[in-house]
Amino acid sequence: MENVVIIGSGCAGWTAALYTARAQLSPLVIAGVQPGGLLTTTSIVENFPGFPEGVDGYELMVRMQKQAERFGARISHGTVESVDFSRKPFSLVVDGESVQARTVILATGASHKHLGVPGEDLLEKKGVTYCATCDGALPVFRQKPLVVVGGGDSACEEALYLTRFASVVHLVHRRESLRASRIMAERVLAHPKIKPIWNTEVTGILDVAQGKVTGVQLSNVKNGGQSFLECAGVFIAIGHGPNTGIFKGQIEMDEQGFVTPHQGSMTSVPGVFVAGDCSDRVYRQAITAAGAGCAAAIDAERFLASQPH
Ligand code: NAP
Repeated sequence: MENVVIIGSGCAGWTAALYTARAQLSPLVIAGVQPGGLLTTTSIVENFPGFPEGVDGYELMVRMQKQAERFGARISHGTVESVDFSRKPFSLVVDGESVQARTVILATGASHKHLGVPGEDLLEKKGVTYCATCDGALPVFRQKPLVVVGGGDSACEEALYLTRFASVVHLVHRRESLRASRIMAERVLAHPKIKPIWNTEVTGILDVAQGKVTGVQLSNVKNGGQSFLECAGVFIAIGHGPNTGIFKGQIEMDEQGFVTPHQGSMTSVPGVFVAGDCSDRVYRQAITAAGAGCAAAIDAERFLASQPH
């Protein structure tokens, strides 16, 4: 029987693991399909306190894991297939094996949203990608025109990163101003290789018949004008949705699937806590996820202390 099972191994999960490990609860972290979470797909993280020169996202996550393991956190490289929070102890199925837990911390994070336009799914990994850090350096993108879709911090980060490889980066955004933080927006707009295309949506990605990206179909949202833009890659950065599908029907969540916290980090099920991007529709920062992981760990520890043995 586990005291604490933490589902997810991003900033929220590893911080919850660090705190519950230091509380001598010997937490078990289920790493999931993307160990280290979304931060492992970013390049330099400049806004995590304590790293004045910035820190590589992957390295930051490795350090968090090591720190939690030093105090006794354990990792399972499995994926949670289902959960049953209807009775205690809670039970989870991890890669076909049953795990029983007194408390559970949900820290499953979020995943990239898809545009849902023709060609997107069929050309994924054939020029359509959701991660510049993972794929930007591929030979197929070198010295070629590339498209980034979106107007937030992620899109700006992707566009800036891709300037290392691309001949030009077209930033296609459906409004005429960026919603990104000012520092990121200013860097993007000042970069000679980045060409914003405002008030425009990508309505299709070509060419499925050739099995590779050759360009995008664009539509101007103001005047309805249609055009074609040649490119070798499409980097989609239009936000994230919470990874909470497996909890549906077990705990309360909003219509978009973000888990609703009740008292502090407690969910609608006493003993099940939540932290990070899977319940955060507002801040979604590495540091806020880490803070939420800490809060969930403290709440779980107090909950356990209040239970009869
Ligand atoms: P975001 O802030 O939600 O921005 C998503 C962007 O995609 C918006 O510009 C949105 O347009 C656009 N969009 C959404 N759906 C679309 C669709 N179907 N078609 C076309 N465009 C669409 O998401 P994000 O950039 O991933 O950032 C998420 C959070 O992480 C934010 O809080 C951000 O600050 C944070 N973050 C921070 C950093 C950093 O600090 N370095 C880096 C990455 C992310 P509208 O503007 O019209 O809504």
